[in-house]
Amino acid sequence: MERMSQHTSADVIVVGLGVAGESIGGQLAKAGLDVVGIESELVGGECPYWGCIPSKMMIRAANLLAEARRIPGMAGSVSDISPDWSPVAERIRKEATDTWDDTVAVERFQDAGGHFIRGQAKILDTKRVEIDGQVIEARKALVITTGTAASIPPIPGLKDTPYWTNREAIATETLPKSLLVIGAGAIGCEIGQTFARFGVDVTIADAADRVLPLEEPDSSKVIADVFEKEGIGVRVGLGIERVEHSDNEFRVFTKDGGDPLVAEKLLIATGRRARVDEQTLTSLGLSGKPGPLPVDDRLRVTDGVWAAGDVAGKGAFTHVATYHADIVVRDILGQPGPAAQYHALPRVSFTDPEVGSVGLTESQAREQGISVATGSAQTASSSRGWIHKAGNEGFIKLVVDADQDIIVGATSIGPCGGEVLSALSVAVHARVPVSTLESMIYAYPTFHRGIQDAIRHLRADQNGK
Ligand SMILES: Cc1cc2nc3c(=O)[nH]c(=O)nc-3n(C[C@H](O)[C@H](O)[C@H](O)COP(=O)(O)OP(=O)(O)OC[C@H]3O[C@@H](n4cnc5c(N)ncnc54)[C@H](O)[C@@H]3O)c2cc1C
Repeated sequence: MERMSQHTSADVIVVGLGVAGESIGGQLAKAGLDVVGIESELVGGECPYWGCIPSKMMIRAANLLAEARRIPGMAGSVSDISPDWSPVAERIRKEATDTWDDTVAVERFQDAGGHFIRGQAKILDTKRVEIDGQVIEARKALVITTGTAASIPPIPGLKDTPYWTNREAIATETLPKSLLVIGAGAIGCEIGQTFARFGVDVTIADAADRVLPLEEPDSSKVIADVFEKEGIGVRVGLGIERVEHSDNEFRVFTKDGGDPLVAEKLLIATGRRARVDEQTLTSLGLSGKPGPLPVDDRLRVTDGVWAAGDVAGKGAFTHVATYHADIVVRDILGQPGPAAQYHALPRVSFTDPEVGSVGLTESQAREQGISVATGSAQTASSSRGWIHKAGNEGFIKLVVDADQDIIVGATSIGPCGGEVLSALSVAVHARVPVSTLESMIYAYPTFHRGIQDAIRHLRADQNGK
């Protein structure tokens, strides 16, 4: 049963049952608390239905095509590679999303003991929530896990056009002939490269002066070069004047007055905005513009109110949402445990090559006044990278606090760059001395041996060699 009227109060009310809310609500219900969970769309949230999981299914298929194209010169020949989107769309529909049906997730929450309500919750104050005219009071905790939605820039003409966000791109059953992606962050680059590998004529544009603008500039260069080789158009530093749509075609007029960019579909991937409106802020006694909810290191917004996941503005990643969830659960149950810390926040752009990074970039470390030393190693020059050959673009870069001799940030871009990142994440998280990493044995021939090469480079630089 999805609606219930008997609850006028509960120990805990969770607003938004995405990654964070489903985990928090389920864990607290299992712990014996009376939990009401409210979800306006699908229990599970963005990640399983329009985010991580289906996008990585698309990428897996696109990477298979790319690997097949790498066969010539390495393993014979392929007579015909015929990309077909239908198995990808079918896999997303059937295996990932159950045709965008959350019955299983709702039952999982209810089986844990949670009381589920489908609908749009309105937060009245720090204790009370309204749903379809019914008011429910939280006796112990109000948890806000409303996530983020695609942020749409105020480009003249855009809002009246049938542009895509991640949701339409993920749910599409057929591919367009051409796609213009506005926004060259992780989502734009991942989806753009995927579609291009299926034969779509793709251009990726951004106002920033490089793709993946939050990553190390060298990472941007590797990805831009790969995109160029794969025939993906890249337009950076682009100012957009207006957008038009007619005759099944988008025309994006640029501020430089050049020819408009023309494509059948337009994907807006210009970041995410927290699902928090002014009324919610006022209800919680907060001021300022709608945006992420301010939280402390236990994810408390104010007395009796917690926020977790994307809406807390500490990183729009599923791993942050689940990390937050465990902290919130412990805090509400009064259990001991570490508070949130973000010095080793990992992130992966699942382009090919994958861009894994953790902690600070070199420029962030310098801005923080850290005495920075760096070491890097090109993947292609390592034994494994050389053996790998086709598709071996990448590098490992270490950003080191030279005074403390610890790694404060790192990038691993290359084949399995996201997996190689694990060792670097441990090092940054646990503040492992570089001298300890220097004395380790690194299995041969692996991609992660590049860490040892990068340390050698760092030491050579430090010793002036
Ligand atoms: C294309 C794409 C690819 C991604 N890939 C990755 C990846 O590879 N790795 C990774 O770590 N992250 C990835 N992410 C990010 C990841 O999906 C999010 O970080 C994650 O879903 C955040 O979980 P959440 O619980 O904070 O929010 P959400 O998953 O957004 O859940 C919030 C829920 O709250 C509900 N809600 C909102 N307001 C209300 C209300 N007033 N009343 C009731 N319900 C409400 C929403 O309907 C939603 O279901 C990707 C995102 C996108 C868009």
